[in-house]
Amino acid sequence: MLIHTIKEVREQVKEWKKLGLTVGLVPTMGALHNGHLSLIKKAVEKCDRVVVSVFVNPIQFCPGEDLEKYPRTLEADTKLCDDAGVNIVFAPSPAEMYGENQMRTNDFLTYVIPPFFYVNKLCGKSRVGHFDGVCTVVNKLFNIVQPDFTFFGEKDAQQLIIIQKMVKDLNIPVEIIPCPIVREESGLALSSRNKYLSDEDKIHALALSKILNNIKNCYKKGITDVEALKETAYQFLDEHHDLEYLEFMNQNDLEETTKADDTTRVFIACKVGGVRLIDNILLGEK
Ligand code: AMP
Repeated sequence: MLIHTIKEVREQVKEWKKLGLTVGLVPTMGALHNGHLSLIKKAVEKCDRVVVSVFVNPIQFCPGEDLEKYPRTLEADTKLCDDAGVNIVFAPSPAEMYGENQMRTNDFLTYVIPPFFYVNKLCGKSRVGHFDGVCTVVNKLFNIVQPDFTFFGEKDAQQLIIIQKMVKDLNIPVEIIPCPIVREESGLALSSRNKYLSDEDKIHALALSKILNNIKNCYKKGITDVEALKETAYQFLDEHHDLEYLEFMNQNDLEETTKADDTTRVFIACKVGGVRLIDNILLGEK
């Protein structure tokens, strides 16, 4: 069922709660692919009722980013959700979420601001204010849907860690279920932004997963010095790659590390054909 208003979602969820049913929420920006679908399937398995939100959140886009051209495929998304057993696709307009005059400004909107330590690194460094927008919208979605469980992908690991921190710090009564990264057979992590890549770009984009897998192999062979591990990346990069960062951090608190161990997550962001791609890998994972 496709719903556009907060009021209708609230009414429906209220009915479910009266019956004692558990509710799962999968927040997305739409243009759904198999990565999203893995979260949705997990939610349908685990919860009695599932809401998938489809909302291209204007306040998490920075000036000059792809807000206008971000792919919007609501009809196909709704069909995919229906087929997967989702109960509600919640697709509000920006005005429904923020009111006509409150968009893209913190002069008139109450924001949820995650801690500086978590946002002054990785994607937060170049995307200033991005995680304020993410935390604010996710917090709103939690208040609207009041889910028992919510599902986030490790594809956006910094986002997942920041949401976990927000839920803990603000005592939000929801359990976060992290979901592993879904990849193409080639290794490329699925992303709605892959639609912007040409066939040739897609080949160059494989460098990200190759770099991460190679670092993990080197780690498994006993190399733990982060500088030495970083050095191994350059063989995969050429003039087609604009590397933004390659960082090694503790996966629980985003503390930077110089010596890798099983809790180290390696994060990469790189532009290919003008498209900004991110990926990551946990060194301790089998
Ligand atoms: P987005 O629509 O890009 O905001 O993503 C919505 C949710 O889907 C987030 O929790 C993402 O981390 C997750 N997601 C996106 N791509 C993937 C992927 N390839 N594998 C697993 N989860 C993903």
